[in-house]
Amino acid sequence: TNAPASNFLRGLIEADLASGKYANRTDPNGNVLPSVITRFPPEPNGYLHIGHAKSICLNFGLARDFGGRCTMRFDDTNPTKEEQEYVDTILDAVQWLGFDWKDDQGDHLYFASDYFDQMYFMAEYLITAGHAYVDSQSAEDMAKNRGSFSEPGKNSPFRDRPAEESLALFRSMKAGEFKDGEHILRAKIDMASPNMNMRDPAIYRIRHAHHHRTGDKWCVYPMYDYAHPIEDAIENVTHSFCTLEFQDHRPFYDWLLERLAEGGFFKKPLPVQTEFARLNLTYAITSKRKLLQLVEENIVDGWDDPRMPTIVGIRRRGYTPESIQLFCERIGVAKSDSWIDMSTLEGALRDDLDAKAPRAVAVLRPLKLIIDNFPDNLVDECKAPVHPHHPERGHRTFPLTKEVWIEEEDFMEVPTKGYFRFFPGNKVRLKYGYVVECTGCDKDENGKVIAVHCNYFADSKSGTEGSANYKVKGTIPWVSVQHALEAEVRLYDRLFTDPNPDAGGKDFKQSLNPNAKEVITAYLEQGMRHALPDEKFQFERHGYFVADRVDHSATKPVFNRVVTLKDSWGK
Ligand code: ATP
Ligand code: MG
Ligand code: MG
Repeated sequence: TNAPASNFLRGLIEADLASGKYANRTDPNGNVLPSVITRFPPEPNGYLHIGHAKSICLNFGLARDFGGRCTMRFDDTNPTKEEQEYVDTILDAVQWLGFDWKDDQGDHLYFASDYFDQMYFMAEYLITAGHAYVDSQSAEDMAKNRGSFSEPGKNSPFRDRPAEESLALFRSMKAGEFKDGEHILRAKIDMASPNMNMRDPAIYRIRHAHHHRTGDKWCVYPMYDYAHPIEDAIENVTHSFCTLEFQDHRPFYDWLLERLAEGGFFKKPLPVQTEFARLNLTYAITSKRKLLQLVEENIVDGWDDPRMPTIVGIRRRGYTPESIQLFCERIGVAKSDSWIDMSTLEGALRDDLDAKAPRAVAVLRPLKLIIDNFPDNLVDECKAPVHPHHPERGHRTFPLTKEVWIEEEDFMEVPTKGYFRFFPGNKVRLKYGYVVECTGCDKDENGKVIAVHCNYFADSKSGTEGSANYKVKGTIPWVSVQHALEAEVRLYDRLFTDPNPDAGGKDFKQSLNPNAKEVITAYLEQGMRHALPDEKFQFERHGYFVADRVDHSATKPVFNRVVTLKDSWGK
């Protein structure tokens, strides 16, 4: 494989490796810890999308490339939104993308909720050490006293209450003696800080809610900004990569870990947070809320609809894990937000499948061709390579008979200039078969062409000596009517016609592409009856297709178009 392109995160890791910053750390059992530990920390509150794939490829990919570890951590500190269904689909997505959270030191699958006892204990320490206090202001007063970007905040009247009093209140909060919102635990930092996140941020709140893993054990839950740095430090993370919107949260991340290191909870060097630009993909939306809307309003057929930018969606569409990894490698990481064009994702799929996908003939818009001088019962075997550039992969065979399907667009009664396919009087080659001469067509009462006629030259078969005597300009794919495999083919295209469907407050439903899904009946070469669900092919001339992983079966074949052969969007 090619050496991965360098980027600023890679550079950061290389510098830390060179200085030995995280070398020689050990876990409680005396094992030497990897010098690079990253993490992928989704909240189990929805389906992952292509943006998350970038984060997965980045975190797991960097750990792999530097011989480190990436922990798989569910950030499940928020009790009301999280569900087991999401946990399962997220693990499945990460594995499908080709990554693993196990290494020779263990299985690094973690749940932030497993750290609730430690987090609580650390909060008590912060109170005792004078770094946190229970605030009993009303929510309105607290918001008012927070100040604004132009105005410093005001200290809470409870800010200087004795530590013992805060501690007793915090224990009563935990014991369930108060209602939601009655008290809150805050870090004691600086109400005049220009960074709003440093104005005594809330770190624990009362929430009488059932948690999907801890049940009703807790009625106080840590805030994200408090929990996340602790989760990183517990897992011995070295490099904590997150998206740019967390930049202003970094000072609190560092403040908290410093205080906890002083308290002896963590050893230095501490994890360091670094921000990168999130992925924005044109012709797609990646907001969980808006994706949910597409599903709930039946605009798409569920989370795994092949038009969806969810990982389950692109997987069902026919994208390969390798193509997603290639895409992420190509787009790299930037320090400021930008848009990545959908054609980059499609190009990665083409580049991955071109070398891999076996070829097959499919007629998508069938028109009957009758070879009038072909013997009625003759079944003539034709041969084609499985892959034109890989002769070692062998060949496939399919029969030629008197009646075959060709594409509607391969016949014109009156040809336009430069048209070299079927028209009366013209000779073409039936691909991998014989040269034929078109003699005319049949029409229905409306003048629509319903069949094309031709005669074949028996000594012109591809691969025989005689074939060299025939020079034709058109080569036409076909399948035998008698032997063709009838299949449902779902022609998918981009879900939106606007490259930035939800930018600048636009209503994304205004630019839904009405042609993003077309279902047709197509005729495939007979060998396709052996296709297995999720198997990918190049249908010659048409693009890359996959046997649908949900609906395809030997008795009811269903194929999805992943992408056309060339990028013709908007051209
Ligand atoms: P929420 O809006 O519910 O917080 P989220 O999109 O932030 O959702 P998380 O489950 O918190 O989802 O995300 C897990 C990880 O994926 C985080 O580290 C987050 O930074 C990263 N991530 C999410 N969206 C993108 C994106 N578009 N590009 C790159 N990384 C992303
Ligand atoms: Mg999040
Ligand atoms: Mg989000």
